Amino acid sequence: MAARIYLDHSATTPLDPRVFLAMEPYLSGEFGNASSTHAEGRKARQAVDTGRAQVADLLGADPAEIVFTASGTEADNLALVGAVRATEGRCHIITSAIEHPAVLETCRFLEQSGTAVTYLPVDGDGRVAPESLRQALRPETRLVSIMAANNVVGTVQPLDELARITKQRGALFHTDAVQAAGKIPLDVNTLPADLISLSAHKLHGPKGIGALYVRRGVKLSPVVFGGGQEQGLRSATENVAGIVGFGAAAALAKAEIASEAVRHAELRQSILAQLEQTVPNAYLIGHPFHRLPGHLCLGLLGQEREVGRILEALDELGVAVSSGSACSAHHTPGPSNVLLAMGFEAERALGLLRVTLGRFNTNTEVTRFLEILPQALSAVQLAETQAAPAFSGAGPFPQ
Ligand code: PLP
Repeated sequence: MAARIYLDHSATTPLDPRVFLAMEPYLSGEFGNASSTHAEGRKARQAVDTGRAQVADLLGADPAEIVFTASGTEADNLALVGAVRATEGRCHIITSAIEHPAVLETCRFLEQSGTAVTYLPVDGDGRVAPESLRQALRPETRLVSIMAANNVVGTVQPLDELARITKQRGALFHTDAVQAAGKIPLDVNTLPADLISLSAHKLHGPKGIGALYVRRGVKLSPVVFGGGQEQGLRSATENVAGIVGFGAAAALAKAEIASEAVRHAELRQSILAQLEQTVPNAYLIGHPFHRLPGHLCLGLLGQEREVGRILEALDELGVAVSSGSACSAHHTPGPSNVLLAMGFEAERALGLLRVTLGRFNTNTEVTRFLEILPQALSAVQLAETQAAPAFSGAGPFPQ
C-alpha cells in the first residue's frame, strides 16, 4: 500500500523526530517537578529554563516574557480575559471578524460580562484595513487582537502597521500567531506587539503546550488560579516534556524558517500552476502573496457542496487535506464564517479545500497529490451526475 500523503499542517503537524528525542528523557527517567528544590526538581527546572529560552528566541524576546500554557487556545484566553480583567472601568476591545474561535468565543464571553467588542471587517483577500482600525479605536479601548495569519485562508495581516496604530493610541496589541510562528519572521524588537499567542503542535512540536509572550511591564490577570507557577499567570505543575519539546521545535523552526519558506512557496506556486491545467474550476482564496508560504486555500467553482465527498474520496486515496479548520469540523457544516466575512456569497462559502504543507512533504508527494486530486474530483462529480442534476447555481467570482 502506498504511503499516505499528509497535507493538513494547519490542523496539526507530525512531531519532528529530533523533538521527540529531546523530550524522551522527560517522559521517562527525568520525572521531577520543576518547582521542587531537590536534584530531580532542579533538573526539571533547568529543562524548563532551556525550553523557555528557545521559545523566547523564536520571537527575539526575553525568556522572562514567556508564559507557558496548555495550548494556543489557552494563550488567547489569557491574553484577552487577562487584559480585560486587569482593567478598571469601562473596557472596549477590537478584533477581526475572521479570528479563530479561541479569540472569537472569548470575545463573546467578554461581551456577556459587559465588555464592548468591535469586530473589524476584512477585504476580499481576508485583510484588515489599517484605516478601519484607526476609526474603531476609542479612548477606552484596552486591547486590539488581530491574528498574524488566518488558519482557513492563510492570509497574513499588515501586522506591523496595525500594531503601530494601536500603540499610538495607547492600547495593548495582541496577535494570535499560532499559524504564523515559525513560518514567517516575528520579532518583538521590531514588531510593537504586547501579547503573542503560540502553540507547539503547529510547528512540529507536541500537542498540549502553548505559550503567551507578555511584553515586560504589561499587566494581566490570571485565568487559572493555584500554586503561582509561570509568574502567577498560569498556575499548574509545569509540563516539562511539553516545554522541552516546544523549545526544541522552536529552535528548529527558527533555524529553518528562511529555507522552508522558500521551499514551501515554490511548492505552493507549482501546485497552483498545475491545477490551472488539470482542475480549471479551482481558484485561490486569500491574498495571492501576503499569505503563509505553505498554505493553499482552494475554491472549487460549482463543486462547493461536494467538498465533503471530495475530502472522503481523497482520504480513501491516501491524501489528508481539510475543508477549513480542524476545530470547526466539530460543528455542522455550513458556510465558512471566514469566507462570508471576506464577502463570498453563501453558496461559494459552503466549501473549500485547504492544502497546507509541512517540513516533511516532498516534491514526490506533491506530484502524487496533483495526480490524485483530479481523479477524486471527477469520481465525485460522476457520482453526483448519476445521482442528481449537477449543481449550477454558482455566480461570478467575487474577487
Ligand atoms: N489560533 C489559531 C489561528 C489556530 O489555528 C488554532 C488551532 O488551529 C488555535 C488558535 C488554537 O490552538 P491550540 O490547538 O493549540 O489550542
